[in-house]
Order: sequence, then structure tokens, then C-alpha cells
Amino acid sequence: MLKDDIQKLCEEGKSVDEIIDFALQNYKSIITSEDIASIIELGKEFDEDVDESTNKVLVFDIETAPIISYTWGVWEQNIVGIVRDWYILCFAYKWLGEKKIHVLSLPDYETYKKDRHDDKDLVNDLWSLFNDADALIAHNGDNFDIKKANARFAFHKLSPPSPYKQIDTLKIAKKHFKFDSNSLDKLGRYLGIGRKTKHEGFGLWEGCMDGDKNAWKRMVKYNRQDVNLLEEVYLELRPWASTQYNFGMLSKSLACSHCGSNNLQSRGTARNKTTVYRRIHCTDCGGWSRTANNTRDDKPLVSL
Ligand SMILES: [Zn+2]
Repeated sequence: MLKDDIQKLCEEGKSVDEIIDFALQNYKSIITSEDIASIIELGKEFDEDVDESTNKVLVFDIETAPIISYTWGVWEQNIVGIVRDWYILCFAYKWLGEKKIHVLSLPDYETYKKDRHDDKDLVNDLWSLFNDADALIAHNGDNFDIKKANARFAFHKLSPPSPYKQIDTLKIAKKHFKFDSNSLDKLGRYLGIGRKTKHEGFGLWEGCMDGDKNAWKRMVKYNRQDVNLLEEVYLELRPWASTQYNFGMLSKSLACSHCGSNNLQSRGTARNKTTVYRRIHCTDCGGWSRTANNTRDDKPLVSL
């Protein structure tokens, strides 16, 4: 009973001191010093959960192995049999703004010695990252990386990770610009940021599937650079995009919805049919936001 009450108070956002007061008042005769210690521990956990300033935006990219199949010919053929289905070879990631880029690949796991194509532990780690994230950033992530990851989660009988927002740099590029090409490599070049790491083509994937150590080194390097470039491209495009993830929510005071900066200027008004808002310009990223409150006391008439 005491434990249930404590859990409930934590969920209601009560402070550790308030919960201890409650426990002492209501369970005075039975409460022990161990109970007090566990209240403090539980309180810490909940405090971590509600830390609104923590950046939980994951920038990531996955590399998959192709399907290996039999065909009767080489041109526009039906597949007559699948030798081995696709799986995840590796993924690179960083939390937005983090210095280090992490790459996890199949040879990092014990299971690799027994089966070079077993991605269960790798997929488990990817699932944990998705589960920790409030938002995921990937290039073509909505159609490829996130769906591919989900397919492997389902294959390995993992439940859906906790909900997150999706930010797809390919969609941002297509919606707001007419670039000659929307590939990450071409975007990086056009925006003067950098290029993807060059590789020898399909041979690199073949080498990894065959267990070639040097091929794996090149794959990890290639994957790492993709995430490096992805973050840079995202940061360039971000003031243009209105995404579902509001960076302003990370700050306790008024902050840019695109980047979370507090360096803001009030510049004019934004209106829809019935409401007038203050228009806010971010002097850091250049993005535009608006306040959420109506600046008028009354609502105007609208035509019938
Ligand atoms: Zn901004």
C-alpha cells in the first residue's frame, strides 16, 4: 500500500520531501529508514524522467545487407528463391550536438563468431536508442531507416519503442527547395558542407558479408561520415522546416521552436483567420516562430 501511494505521488510530480512528509504522516508506525531511502531513489528516477532540458534527439543512419536470391537470368528477372534475407549490418548515431559519433556493427558482438549474419544483439541496441529518443533524424528515415528498423524489431519479437517524432531531411529538402538532387551526398556538396565517404560500390557490402575485416573498417568509416554529414545538413535546413518536434520545449523560457535558442526578436504579427500572434525571429538559426497565445482579447467575426 505504501509503495503504491509513493508511486502515485511520484507520478503526480510531488517532490521527495513532500512524499516523505506524506509517508511519515500516514504510515508513521510502520515506516523504516529503508523505506525513506527507497523513496529518495524513486524520486531521483522520476526527476530524471521529467528533465525537460535533456536533448533526446537521435541522428542516425543504418546500413543493411541485401537480399541474396536465385534468378534464372540476369535481366528483369523474377526471384525464384531467397538464399538469405536482408538484415542490419551496422548503424551510426549521435545525440544531436554530441561530439562523438558512435558506430555499432555486427563484428562488435559475441554472436558474430558463430553467425556473421545474426543481427539480434545489434537490433536490440538500436531498439534501446529509439526507446530513449524523443525524436529521430534520418535522411529518408520515414521511408527507409525507421521502417527497416521496425521490420527487424518485429522479426526479433521486440515491442514498439516508446513514441518519438520523426524528422526526415529528405522530406524537408523536397518540400522547401528545388535542389538538383536530394541525395545526402549532393546536398552536402551543394550546401558546401562536405561529401559522403567514397567507397568501391557493392564490393564493400559483399566484403562485410564475407567477414572481411578491412571492408568492415571502411563500412564503419562510411557509416560514421554519413551521420556527420546528416547532422550538418539537418542544421542547415532546420530553420526552413516546421517539424513536429518543438525545440522550444527544451527551454523553460521563450525559445526558438527550430533550434531552442533564447536569442529572439519580436518582429511583427502572424495571423490566421481568427487569431493574432506575435511573430518571433531567431537571431541564431534565422527561423521564424510565433507565440501560442492570441494577442487580441476578443475573437473577430468570420463570414458565413
Ligand atoms: Zn533558432
